[in-house]
This record gives sequence, structure tokens and C-alpha cells, in this order.
Amino acid sequence: MASVSIIEGFEKLRLLDAAIEQSYNSVVITDADLDGGPRIVYVNAGFERMTGYSREEALGKTPRILQGPATSRAVLDRLRGALVSGEYFEGETVNYRKDGSPYEVRWHISPVYASDNDRDITHFVSVQKDITEERRRDDELRLLSTALEVSVDPVLITDPDGTITYVNAAFEEQTGYSRNEAVGKNPRFLQSGQQEPGFYRGMWETLARGEAFRGEFVNRRRDGTLMNMEQSISPVTDAHGRVTHYVSISKDVTDRVRMEDEIRRLAHTDWLTGLANRLSLGNTLEAEMERSRRYGRPLSLIMFDIDHFKDFNDDYGHETGDDVLKRLADTVQGALREADALGRWGGEEFMVVVPETPGAGAEAMAEKLRKAVAVMETACPVSVTASFGVTEMRQGDTPKTFARRVDEAMYQAKEAGRNRVVLL
Ligand code: GH3
Ligand code: MG
Ligand code: MG
Repeated sequence: MASVSIIEGFEKLRLLDAAIEQSYNSVVITDADLDGGPRIVYVNAGFERMTGYSREEALGKTPRILQGPATSRAVLDRLRGALVSGEYFEGETVNYRKDGSPYEVRWHISPVYASDNDRDITHFVSVQKDITEERRRDDELRLLSTALEVSVDPVLITDPDGTITYVNAAFEEQTGYSRNEAVGKNPRFLQSGQQEPGFYRGMWETLARGEAFRGEFVNRRRDGTLMNMEQSISPVTDAHGRVTHYVSISKDVTDRVRMEDEIRRLAHTDWLTGLANRLSLGNTLEAEMERSRRYGRPLSLIMFDIDHFKDFNDDYGHETGDDVLKRLADTVQGALREADALGRWGGEEFMVVVPETPGAGAEAMAEKLRKAVAVMETACPVSVTASFGVTEMRQGDTPKTFARRVDEAMYQAKEAGRNRVVLL
């Protein structure tokens, strides 16, 4: 067994001297003369480094050489009170180097007694730590957390398991959930059920690779309404590369998404009748031709055009003409099946894409539509009629040839006297 030898006497002094001398912190020993002094009787190398005063310059002076305009009077008063009553003191304030530059310092000052039995104070030992950098970091942290707090964009922080540890004021405001309700939960409670399948899996896969994830989330507020959030989630790692947190910053884009939806709707809708416009109906036609071909199902087209519509406008005015168009759209729409797609093809020309229906079936439908139009009530005292063309999709048809043929069928119906159906 190794023997432990107690270090005593001169050896102990030598070690303590070396320890203090090499201490990174500044160590100052003063006498206990609080009236004239106290006077500095010892400083270590740390003091010289911190203050810029050499040992020779400091010895015999009072520590007041370190004070300056920003040194706190209150802290100094507290210090003096503690020294007078022989108490341990700890405090922070600003000191000044020899060159006048300020630094933040934390003092620990202890009285030194003459001996264990003699309670007369002979010296004060002061250890001083430069906390400028510490303070700067505190200030920076405070600044950053204030920035988060006043940010207009919701911020959410979770631990590595996805449990919320922080939400800012904007989060509370935009979701309706208070901090107390959110912290400790998994952000899952914001889910609306409207995300594409696999969306969250993709998100976790990205985060697991240590990458930031950006996506558009549809979340649900506390009151049940939906909100579109453009969200970016980033993993935060420690010095060893381990994830300590996930930080999510989002932007409420509900208004933008709503506007985009509206623009998209307007781009596909006829302003007068509310029906699909030519662009939209063209898309439907293409998709249905594709589907019909893939599954070997019949597909037909009906096209119709109001008879002598120019005369309606001339006789009753353009507004009455518009009203006829709207009535006609409602009437025909009401007579169709759910799967049939009606759209306004041109001025007073309409088209119906009729899935799952051969030519003869579509012809019968067109006949039904023709009758419904002929008996509908409008702002005109005379009845409105239309001529109908019908055709079924053939092998080799493109949307163009298919539409051209139904147009030709309609033209033939006009030629044959109008208010009739022609199947080509
Ligand atoms: P037809 O029987 O041969 O079809 O005769 P028509 O007079 O209907 O001739 P055509 O189809 O060539 O005429 C189309 C007319 O439809 C021209 C225009 O005055 C009218 N029209 C087209 N779009 C609108 C619209 O949005 N509102 C109104 N009020 N009239 C329209
Ligand atoms: Mg016409
Ligand atoms: Mg026309």
C-alpha cells in the first residue's frame, strides 16, 4: 500500500505559493488597514496579465487603482461593509486596466486572521475573475431569446424525442395554444390529417440524416381552423454531433395559399356561368381519353351551340343574352350525371365529356338535354333551342380529332335545321 505523506512546513508553503502564482485568476493580497489602505502586499502573474500593472507598480498601492467611472458604488459600499465586519464577500462590477480599458470582474474576498485563536484580521485575500466573455455570452443569449420572443414567426423547440421544450409568443398567438398547453407535448397535436401520406416519414428521414427539413404544413389551430405553415425544422447538435434539439421556425402562409387556390380556381372557371372553361375541359378530355384507352372503356363527347343566338342579343340585349347562357348552364348541369363534365367551350358553345358511354347512349343523353333546353324558362319571351353534335372516341383519336368530329356533328345538326341531335 502506498503511504500518504502529509506535506508540511516549508514544502507546503512552496507548493501553495506555486499554486497561487500559477492560478489563471488574478490573486491579490492586501493588508487590513481600512483607513489608510488597504495596501497591496502581493499580486500573482494572473493579476499582471489581467490588469496590465506589473508587480512593482501594484505593490504598496490600494486596489482603488483598478476602479473607474463604471465601477459600481453600491458594490464598493457592500464590499467595504463586509471587510469592516470581517465577512466573506462576493460581487461583480467593472474594473479598469492600466491602459484605461474596462473589464467585467467577479471578486471573492476573504479575511485572513492572525491565527486560529487570534480573531484580528491581518490581511484580505482577493481572487478576481475576468467575466467579460461570460457576460458577453449572457448578453448574447438574452438578445437571442428576446429576438425569438418578439419574432412575428412562430418558433417551436423540441428535445431529440420530439417533446416540445419551448414555444414563442407568436406560436401562442397563431395557434391559439398557450405555452403551458404546448410544452411537454409532441407537436403531433397540431396535425390536421390533411398532409400527404408519407409526409411526416419523409420529414423524419431528412432530420435523421442531420439535415434541415423544409415543407408546407397544414396545421390545425386550437379553435379547429386550418392554417398553412411554411416550416423549416433544423436539428441542433452538441460538440459531439449528438442531436440535442430540433428548432422549427414557421411562417403563416394561409392567406397566400388561399389566394393561390382562388387563382387556380379562377383560371379553370368560366366567369359568367361558373362552369369549367375551355382550358379545364381540355384537361379533363385528355385525362378521360387516357383513362378510357387504358381500361378499354367507351368515351363520348357532346357539343352544342345555341340556335340563332345573335338574334337574341339583337332583340333583347346582351344582358338578357348573358342570362340565357347562365340558365342554360344550370339546366344542362342539372340534367347530367355526376361523372359527366360540362364546360363552356366558346361564346355560346358548350361541351360535355361523357365517360363510360358509347355513342348511342350519349345520343340519348343529348336528346334529353335538347328537350330540357327547349322548355327552360329564361328572361326571353321566346324559347331557346340548341343544336347538338355527338360522337364516340375512336382508335387513333387525339383530343383535337375527337373534338373536331363532334364539332362537325354539331355543324350537321345546324345544317339539318337546328334544334336536333346528330351522331357521327
Ligand atoms: P347559329 O344558330 O348558327 O349558331 O346562329 P348564331 O346566331 O347563334 O350564330 P353564332 O353561333 O355564330 O353566333 C354567336 C353569337 O353568340 C355571337 C355573340 O353575339 C353571341 N355571344 C357569344 N358569347 C356571348 C356572351 O358571352 N354573351 C352574350 N350575350 N352573347 C354572346
Ligand atoms: Mg349559335
Ligand atoms: Mg356559336
